[in-house]
Amino acid sequence: MTDLYRPLQSLCEGHWFKLICGASYQHLASIRDLTLAYTLAGADCIDVAADPAVITAAQEAIQMATTLNIPDCNLAPSVHPDFLAAHRPWLMVSLNDGEDPHFRKAHFDADRCPTDCPRPCERICPAQAIAFPAPPAPQGVIAERCYGCGRCLPVCPIGQIITEATVVNPAQILPQIMALGIDAIEIHTQMGRVAAFQRLWSAIVPHCPHLKLIAVSFPDGEDAIAYLWTLHDVIRATWSGPLVWQTDGRPMSGDLGKGTTHAALKLAQTVLTEGPPGYVQLAGGTNAHTVTKARQLGLLTPSGQSVSREPGPQRTIAGIAYGSYARAQLRQWLETGLAGEGEREVRREDREARGLFGERLWSAVQAAAALVSPLKAGLVVSLEREDRFSQVPSPVAAARPP
Ligand code: SF4
Ligand code: SF4
Repeated sequence: MTDLYRPLQSLCEGHWFKLICGASYQHLASIRDLTLAYTLAGADCIDVAADPAVITAAQEAIQMATTLNIPDCNLAPSVHPDFLAAHRPWLMVSLNDGEDPHFRKAHFDADRCPTDCPRPCERICPAQAIAFPAPPAPQGVIAERCYGCGRCLPVCPIGQIITEATVVNPAQILPQIMALGIDAIEIHTQMGRVAAFQRLWSAIVPHCPHLKLIAVSFPDGEDAIAYLWTLHDVIRATWSGPLVWQTDGRPMSGDLGKGTTHAALKLAQTVLTEGPPGYVQLAGGTNAHTVTKARQLGLLTPSGQSVSREPGPQRTIAGIAYGSYARAQLRQWLETGLAGEGEREVRREDREARGLFGERLWSAVQAAAALVSPLKAGLVVSLEREDRFSQVPSPVAAARPP
């Protein structure tokens, strides 16, 4: 007997887990590793930049997850190919309707740095995106690694770090990314941008028949609820499928500390009761404390019940997205690479090394599952397994509360 959960079911039942790789993050090896580990840990959605190379890297990782030789890699029953084939996460691409911190990259001229600067920018960067290798190698921001968090800006003693917006033309990029077979689009917006939102939405509408979900990400702000109702009317005029409201509490901050999760929860409480119909999903500052806090506030959907999409005190969150914190959980593996070309080469050529690959991958999956599992505590997965799988604990079950 097989009882499998798919992304939409996770949304309907309130345990949707989304990995945010970053709207401007383009480090392909890390995107591949993050996607591979979180896919194997049970993520429902992988959110990436609107960049064909990034989308392809994420798709390669999802494909790799569904075709891994499980016995060789000594992985868990929950990563059985039958499970993953049915539970394949949706691939979401983020677009923006205007200036947005998620769509920018830091930049500075390393030649202007005082020779005695202790380089606080390098230390504070959570993505190892600032480096000073020996010349002639280029020094400064490694653009593909920068995801625009902005932490390096205030620490520079000469104030020379700036950010530059990453701009994509929706009319040009949409046909390319749709041709790659993405599942969902997320629109990042801010209060008062109705006209800009409508322009972007008009560009997306022709592609809607090929999408499974639309999400809208927004920060808190004055008249936020009224703005969301306006967007709802714009979207619902042409889209009747699943609609997610992403409450972006404190963007790109989940790895900074326990308290960063509060802003997303507070915004979600308002949207749940007063916001327009649809699924409400947390993001921005989410971390290991988010599920506990959401449960204390009564925002989680009880196991076995469905999420209400209508506003009111009965509506609960449909899921949680994790970005900075999810990446931080895998930092030790991202630094050395998990599924990069080198690893695959080793894996192909050396049976002993292949075992090592499996061990490292399995450790990364366990770290990812520790974040995924609390949200999916009520999830019941039963699979027919061969005996050889039965001795290995599931990463989901392993982190499930008693
Ligand atoms: S600290 Fe943030 S903004 Fe600065 S380089 Fe690193 S990722 Fe980019
Ligand atoms: S903190 Fe500023 S001056 Fe110092 S190394 Fe970084 S960019 Fe250069």
